[in-house]
Amino acid sequence: MYFPVNLYLRIVMIVVDLHNHTNASHARNSVSEMVASAREHGLRIYGFSEHSPRPLAYSYPKEYRDHLQASFGNYVEDVLSFKQRDPELRVLLGMELDWFPAEPDFMQRAVAAHPFDYVIGGIHFLGTWGFDFSPEDWQRGPDFCEEQYVAYFRTLKDLARSGLVNIAAHPDIIKLFSVETFKGWLACPGSLDLVAEALTAIRDAGMGMEISSAGLRKPCREIYPGPEIMRLAAEIGVPITFGSDAHDIDTPAYGFDLLEKYARSFGYTHSLVFEHGERQELPF
Ligand SMILES: [Zn+2]
Ligand SMILES: [Zn+2]
Repeated sequence: MYFPVNLYLRIVMIVVDLHNHTNASHARNSVSEMVASAREHGLRIYGFSEHSPRPLAYSYPKEYRDHLQASFGNYVEDVLSFKQRDPELRVLLGMELDWFPAEPDFMQRAVAAHPFDYVIGGIHFLGTWGFDFSPEDWQRGPDFCEEQYVAYFRTLKDLARSGLVNIAAHPDIIKLFSVETFKGWLACPGSLDLVAEALTAIRDAGMGMEISSAGLRKPCREIYPGPEIMRLAAEIGVPITFGSDAHDIDTPAYGFDLLEKYARSFGYTHSLVFEHGERQELPF
């Protein structure tokens, strides 16, 4: 029987996954195990984006800071050892920079410490509160939730204007534990204007907005970002990137068939890749 060589291209049309973690942080597998999985999943460009180390004031109830601090150098070396090794799979060195507006020096140093191909900006904290950890934190009523949404999108705009990052991670992760309240808020006058300010800043900075399948695996059960924000991003002309936010070998390219249909339904046909900070636009 005859199988076309590029058969996998017909199954997975998105062949770039720029958001992946390793056991240098709280994820399960090594760099080499993740590379092998990327190959099995038919990817052609595979970007690692390990979490940046975090200052002491920013802690989760279950913390892996010391392990990450001790392992980050090895993570960089391991990823670099895979670069240029296989012409069929381009491996990229990135980092997911935790966004701490009160710690500009810390963030500058983190970004400058290694020869990253790109940096993904991920907001997981508002002040020193890691908002993506505990669903109980979000049971304080709609007013509380709405205040956090406003703070989040203001922070996202600042992140985009910082010049420190290339990609905005999971752009509406703030909906994680309160997705219905979030949708209600988005429908209120003024909310989408605030989101539009952040998206415009992302576009004007030459950055990409990540479309992430992580939301499908989380309590919100929805792609990041949701359809209202996708529609707005397409209207504003914000370029996109794709990420699985894989934390184990089962997850690279997770849900990419859905992500492809989703992105296309808003008119997208290209996504961004960054190598040595150089931006490239590729069809999917
Ligand atoms: Zn993240
Ligand atoms: Zn991540």
